[in-house]
Amino acid sequence: MNLVVGVDIGNSTTEACAARLGPAGVEFLGSGLVATTGVKGTSANVDGVEAAVRAALKTSGASLGALRRVFVNEATPVISGLAMETITETLITESTMIGHDPRTPGGAGLGVGDTVAFGELDGCSPGDEVIVVVPVGVDFAVVSKGLNAALERGVELRGAVLGNDDAVLVANRTDRRVPIVDEVRLVASVPLGMRAAVEVAAPGRTIRTLSNAYGLATVFGLDAEQTRAVSPVARALTGIRSAVVVRTPSGEISDRRIPAGSIELRGETATLRIDVGEGAEAIMSALERITPLLDASGEAGTNVGGMTASVKENMADVSGVDPAEVRIGDLLAVDTFVPRDVRGGLAGEVALENAVALAAMVRTSHGPMRQVAEAVAERLRAAGAEQVEVVIGGVEAEMATRGALTTPGTDRPLVVLDLGGGSTDAARADRSGSTATVHVAGAGDLVTRLIAAELGVPRDLAEQIKQAPLAKAESFFHLRLEDGTVQFSEDPLPPEVFARVVVLGTDALVPIPGRQGLERIRQVRRTAKHRVFVVNALRALKQIAPYGDLRQIGFVVLLGGSALDFEIPELVADALAPYGIVCGTGNVRGTEGPRNAVASGLVLAQAAG
Ligand code: ADP
Ligand code: MG
Repeated sequence: MNLVVGVDIGNSTTEACAARLGPAGVEFLGSGLVATTGVKGTSANVDGVEAAVRAALKTSGASLGALRRVFVNEATPVISGLAMETITETLITESTMIGHDPRTPGGAGLGVGDTVAFGELDGCSPGDEVIVVVPVGVDFAVVSKGLNAALERGVELRGAVLGNDDAVLVANRTDRRVPIVDEVRLVASVPLGMRAAVEVAAPGRTIRTLSNAYGLATVFGLDAEQTRAVSPVARALTGIRSAVVVRTPSGEISDRRIPAGSIELRGETATLRIDVGEGAEAIMSALERITPLLDASGEAGTNVGGMTASVKENMADVSGVDPAEVRIGDLLAVDTFVPRDVRGGLAGEVALENAVALAAMVRTSHGPMRQVAEAVAERLRAAGAEQVEVVIGGVEAEMATRGALTTPGTDRPLVVLDLGGGSTDAARADRSGSTATVHVAGAGDLVTRLIAAELGVPRDLAEQIKQAPLAKAESFFHLRLEDGTVQFSEDPLPPEVFARVVVLGTDALVPIPGRQGLERIRQVRRTAKHRVFVVNALRALKQIAPYGDLRQIGFVVLLGGSALDFEIPELVADALAPYGIVCGTGNVRGTEGPRNAVASGLVLAQAAG
């Protein structure tokens, strides 16, 4: 009897499987899975390896004392870095617009007039068309009394802008129904004596005039040149329920592009320098032209420069290689939108600015794997596995395909796509057994980061949003799921989820703060997955396909943590279907799903000789 454990140290997860090697072959006994400790391929991994080994032995009902050999993968450290560059900025140099979504604006419709301070209303003449601006702190009863007195005198009240959250109270007490926008934080900065328009949409609707460039032109009598200048205002006001636009003659809103820095891509025959501001598509097509990438570096003094430098430094630290010798082997650029405060806005307006997220990856071939193996052996011996030997197993790609082939219904030739946390790895095993492999930057962690940035939520909430469908708690006793179906509950739902969009977490409903709708959150989630995994699946497969031709591939088995996702495997399969590729999620040893392929492969390789 010969008890062995195979261990796969990944960037995120350390997986293990225990087996008995005997004359009759391999008998798998159990598996374990823990979070990787430290950077993959460094001595910090020992804690995670020990925990994974113990977990695998526990499910096998075996003791450490019986353990004879541990096989670990040749884990080359992969360090990935991420940078996000905002490439547009909405800037208001004069107070020109208030576009925000107070929870409860008052009245409805569009009103156009000149801005007048509430205190100056008495000075207005009959027939004056006015938009009244009420500072914070004036009681709603006083406001409605003042407005009614002005209406009585024949002043043409067209709308109101309030500092307090009183729009509904004021609207209910005012004799004429006019649009009222409230909760304007910087109401004191609203310019007075200027032409302004106030628009409030009916509940459930969004404004139509101020979010339309020609609507603004109509309201303010603008010519073509002026219309072009205010068009960013219309864009910034899209999709909200209420807004105020004040036209200040010298005012200016611009939608300016900010210099994002450039990145230099060095290939075997050429070097290309590309401005990050040109967007993901331009960067990725430059990369494709110079593939294979020998190195990349960002312009000093920019976020991109900082990111490439820190990725290289981190790698130098863990591998002991001189930072000048570290090379970036791949990168992935993704277009994204991030909510940012509008500079010069009056009500905490946010605009969705264009941004580019970049993931870069560094690998070295000389990880200190020997040291890791020795440290693991020492640790396990001290823990009671007195006779254990730790062996560094074969090439990771070969082990992965070997493990994947234990999925029922698979055979050579076959391609595995390992959808992990930091990188997406592809390996192809042809009929003769030889393998080709490629690693591309960007995987599950980048998806999480994109969701966090686009929705403006913390990383751990973004991770939950990534992993499960959404629902809305429409009453205390039912949820409307994102596919439109209804789920009833026996017990009342917790009050904190009522009327909120929630994630259907495994053990609880997780409310998502803010007022973003279910559809938008869903779209952000799916787009992030598409931009990372569909792009990377195609990129990786092209590099290992015979003659770069995807039609030559045939079968793809998905592995790794992200293959457990409830929609990523579908998105990838849909993208591969046009090439005649059969794509499904692996089920290693018929029991493990997309997990444990490398660990199982290590054990099988030993048994095979
Ligand atoms: P590695 O091989 O690099 O250690 P893994 O294969 O463990 O990485 O994959 C880690 C990634 O898998 C993380 O981005 C994590 O968010 C993702 N992941 C893990 N479980 C799930 C799940 N149930 N649904 C979606 N993603 C998941
Ligand atoms: Mg892995």
